[in-house]
Amino acid sequence: MSSDVALWPDRRGLLFVVSAPSGTGKTTVVERLAHVVPSLAVSRSYTSRPARAGESDGVDYNFITRERFEEMIAADAFLEWADVFGNLYGTSAADAERDLAAGRDLVLVIDVEGARQVRRRCPDMVGVFVMPPSFAVLEHRLRGRSQDTEAAMQHRLRTARAEVAAVTEYDYVVVNDELEACVDRLRAIVLAERARLRSVRVITEYIVDTFLREETQ
Ligand code: 5GP
Repeated sequence: MSSDVALWPDRRGLLFVVSAPSGTGKTTVVERLAHVVPSLAVSRSYTSRPARAGESDGVDYNFITRERFEEMIAADAFLEWADVFGNLYGTSAADAERDLAAGRDLVLVIDVEGARQVRRRCPDMVGVFVMPPSFAVLEHRLRGRSQDTEAAMQHRLRTARAEVAAVTEYDYVVVNDELEACVDRLRAIVLAERARLRSVRVITEYIVDTFLREETQ
């Protein structure tokens, strides 16, 4: 049997939820994480917002209409969903279940409100909050990359303040001061969670059993 816990049979995947204020760089960090950790899937959300230049359907998001999104809400198809900056975003319950049932660890990159909903439905989830080094650094990054109006920028910054205040609801905090260092800390969290007794109970019992069998012979 493989010594890599993520590859053991009959294992249910772990559910990681990563939140961070807009502009913290969480998408890049999580994409890098999925490259360096085996057997780790990143959930593809559904959204009613239009694709931006360079984004494609089925890659960055599943882009759907608001009507279709509302139908999915009515059909209870979402593990969680939220209205973020006027657009709807959600995680398909069926998509998430497919990964977890196949033993793949799954990362959701979602906002604080969505994370609260997942925590209620899946109390075993592992919450990770990615922090910018400071408010000033976040503002600098946001202004550098954004074509937002000043009013939209102020709204993002106010939302960031409210989101950072929710950090105490998470299990881990990682500061994104430097990309590779931040990815490395996230990788350590995934590996530590994979080694927890609750994650390895089945294989542990199997190994302990081999010792007990020796004793009775
Ligand atoms: P953006 O439009 O910039 O890609 O994402 C805006 C915000 O939506 C980000 O804070 C992101 O975390 C959040 N978001 C993306 N997908 C989901 C989702 O499936 N559920 C929730 N609750 N938030 C999401």
